[in-house]
Amino acid sequence: MEARGLLKELLEMPGGDQILKCIQCGTCSGSCPMYQAMDYGPRRLFAMAKGGDFDEVFRSNTYWICASCYFCTVRCPRGIKITDIMYALKRMAVARGYTPREKSAYMYQAFKETVEQYGRLSEARMMQKYLTKAPMDAIKNASLGLKLLLKKRMEFKVEPVKNPGTFKAMLEKARELAHEGSSQEGEVQWSPEEA
Ligand code: SF4
Ligand code: SF4
Repeated sequence: MEARGLLKELLEMPGGDQILKCIQCGTCSGSCPMYQAMDYGPRRLFAMAKGGDFDEVFRSNTYWICASCYFCTVRCPRGIKITDIMYALKRMAVARGYTPREKSAYMYQAFKETVEQYGRLSEARMMQKYLTKAPMDAIKNASLGLKLLLKKRMEFKVEPVKNPGTFKAMLEKARELAHEGSSQEGEVQWSPEEA
C-alpha cells in the first residue's frame, strides 16, 4: 500500500488523526523513560509517519518498546494521545507481518509467561525470565533493576490472582477468538515465538 493509503489508515484509527496536531515540540521524547532504547522517539516517529515513511516507522522498535506509561500523553501540550497512536501503529505493523526484533521479543515472551503463570504482572518475575532469555542485556540493565529495588518500585513477592485456572481458560478463549478473527480477515498471524 502506498504511503498516502497508510497515512489515511492511521488517521482513521482511534486517536490516529491527532498526529496532525503535533507541533514537534519534543516534550514526548524528552519525557519518555524508554527513549534511550528506542530507534526514534515519539516526536520523530510521528514526523516520519506524517511524511509517509511508513517502512522506516514499521521497522523501528519504538512502538514495541513503548511501555504504555502514558507520561508523554499527560505532558503533550497538544493533548495528543501518544500511547494510543503507538498501539495503532503496532496494530498496523502486526497486520503487515512486522515483528519485534529479538530482544524485545524476549521481553514480550517474559511478560506473557509471567502473566500466564500468575494472572498478573510481577516485574521481578518477568525480569527473572528475561534474564534467562537475554542474559547479556539483563546484565547491562542490572543497575537499573537495583535502583528500582532500592526505591521499592519493584516487588519480589507475587500475589497470583485468586483463580489462575479461570484466568488461563479466559486467555485460551481470547486466543481462539483472535485466531478466528484474524483468519477471517486474512491478516498475518504473529506471536513472539515467531520473532
Ligand atoms: S509532545 Fe505532543 S506536540 Fe510535542 S512532539 Fe510530542 S506529540 Fe508532538
Ligand atoms: S507511553 Fe510510551 S512513548 Fe509515551 S512516554 Fe511512555 S514509554 Fe514513552
